[in-house]
Amino acid sequence: MTAQLIDGKAIAADIRAEVTAGVEKLKAEKGITPGLATVLVGDDPASHKYVSMKRKMCAQVGIESFHHELPESATQDEVLALVQGLGEDPKVHGILVQLPLPSQVDEKTILEAVPLSKDVDGFHPLNIGALAMKGREPAFVPCTPNGVIELLDRSDVEISGANAVVLGRTNIVGMPVALLLVSRNATVTVCHSRTQDLPAVCREADILVAAIGRARMVKGDWIKPGATIIDVGTNVIDDATRKSGKRLVGDVDFDAGLEVAGKITPVPGGVGPMTIAMLLANTLRAAAK
Ligand code: NAP
Repeated sequence: MTAQLIDGKAIAADIRAEVTAGVEKLKAEKGITPGLATVLVGDDPASHKYVSMKRKMCAQVGIESFHHELPESATQDEVLALVQGLGEDPKVHGILVQLPLPSQVDEKTILEAVPLSKDVDGFHPLNIGALAMKGREPAFVPCTPNGVIELLDRSDVEISGANAVVLGRTNIVGMPVALLLVSRNATVTVCHSRTQDLPAVCREADILVAAIGRARMVKGDWIKPGATIIDVGTNVIDDATRKSGKRLVGDVDFDAGLEVAGKITPVPGGVGPMTIAMLLANTLRAAAK
């Protein structure tokens, strides 16, 4: 069996096209240009790269971005004052604080200072809390988990009634993915570093979402034949055949997965492109509210 590829690049491009159309409509009908403020504290090269990609994509779909950088030595009060100011700025509809923050700045305090109506990353505890409660709608759903659900929906994967296994339980990926799957009527098992006999648990999954940050840990014989595999993991491994000497792989042994699964996301080109697409979609929603 050869699994069908779930093409995150193509699906993300579709979502960006939808956002572009939505932005044009909002400008034409209400004279509102969606605005995203990006806050970057410190010198982490990966964070600089992520923020610059997010700003580039904003420009592509017609969202205005307002970039703010603070030095690695910034105090908690300085970061807090910046975020509070952006919370009051009417041109700013969404606020993105790039994580991680330097150790002297308390992440929890900063994320809670983002007004719910501008929490386009969906990391405010009230937004995550609403995800867990029946009958509550979060203002925003975190971008990577939301991207996982979009990939399933746009690949015609039936979530309701499926046995779903989520590997990883972090605030930013595993737990919100699990909550979203429950809200869509899947039966969900959440696994983590203390889970016993992970291969046996995975073999029960109709939908397997891997978000553990362990290169190619999920083997072919962990996968139920015909299952859908969403691989969130991004791991850099050595590869002498590449000019850079390195290569990006997921948490799933992709070649083995191709033989057993029904549908599978590649890494790169699966979940990765969806994260920014969902951020753009959230920013448009924030501006349209
Ligand atoms: P993380 O902080 O790396 O935490 C890993 C999670 O996996 C934890 O819940 C941990 O369990 C669990 N885990 C670790 N080793 C395990 C093992 N051997 N067996 C079972 N569970 C294990 O996770 P994260 O920040 O959510 O990121 C996960 C992966 O997704 C990373 O590769 C990251 O780069 C990637 N990611 C990708 C995107 C994207 O846009 N594509 C976005 C975000 C993250 P405990 O809770 O017990 O420690």
